[in-house]
Amino acid sequence: MANLIPATINDRLRLKKVIQALSKFLKDSDRIVQLQTKYDFERYIDASFKRIFDKQGESVIRQLNAGTDIDTALNNALKLTEKESVSVILTVWRVMIAYAIDKFPKQFLESEQVEHEGIPESFRLDNPKAMQRLRAVAAKRITKINQVTKERIKEIIVEAKDKGYSSDKLSKSIQDEFAQMSIGKPQLHIQSRAHLIAITETAEAYGYANKFSADEIQDEINMPMEKFWQTQEDDRVSEGCQENQDAGWIDLNELFPSGHDREPRFPGCRCTVLYRVAGAE
Ligand SMILES: [Zn+2]
Repeated sequence: MANLIPATINDRLRLKKVIQALSKFLKDSDRIVQLQTKYDFERYIDASFKRIFDKQGESVIRQLNAGTDIDTALNNALKLTEKESVSVILTVWRVMIAYAIDKFPKQFLESEQVEHEGIPESFRLDNPKAMQRLRAVAAKRITKINQVTKERIKEIIVEAKDKGYSSDKLSKSIQDEFAQMSIGKPQLHIQSRAHLIAITETAEAYGYANKFSADEIQDEINMPMEKFWQTQEDDRVSEGCQENQDAGWIDLNELFPSGHDREPRFPGCRCTVLYRVAGAE
């Protein structure tokens, strides 16, 4: 958000109101959890998903021992942890959005003498509509994560059938799989799935939060915004990311040449998308 420079005094007044509203949201988020650096976000997601995979594993095994079939057991376990999983993603997004807003140029805000007229309801990110939108997208990310879990367990069942495992051995394999999702195989230097999710979701949350903030400004106060794909500009930048940067400033609603709406383009992408009011230099 560093390049956000409103063109006219009227634009500045409108922008200030949005920022006041979003700053209130910032305070709410800070109460939820203290996350400061990228590493904090990753650690928080990693620890949360370790806990979630442990719970899922315990639940599945308990149900299998009680004679429940594997599909039902797995669905029950995923349902049991769904609320908690969505809440982890939501927490990270809310704090990230707060940081995105905080990156507005403070200097410009402090120089304006604006009478406080109260915050329009629609600007408040804790309003039901905005939260519903966030929750729906977070739920979709959890559905994707759960889908991978289902596929991994399905592979084990297929293998068990092929090799004629006893039900005890199948049960043990499933237990091992959840343990690997939670803690990996440290002695073999295999990272846990919780850790990979932490890295991916931190990058996703960062890109999502910045875009969400720009969308709020454009939609709620009808101020057209532009975006720019900023690479690290070193010799490790991939071709696709370079093409996105070469496109220059584009409209907020347009897609970059790679077909992406925002960063990250892929899990290891180091790019950042910048936003500004349309026409600002
Ligand atoms: Zn990139």
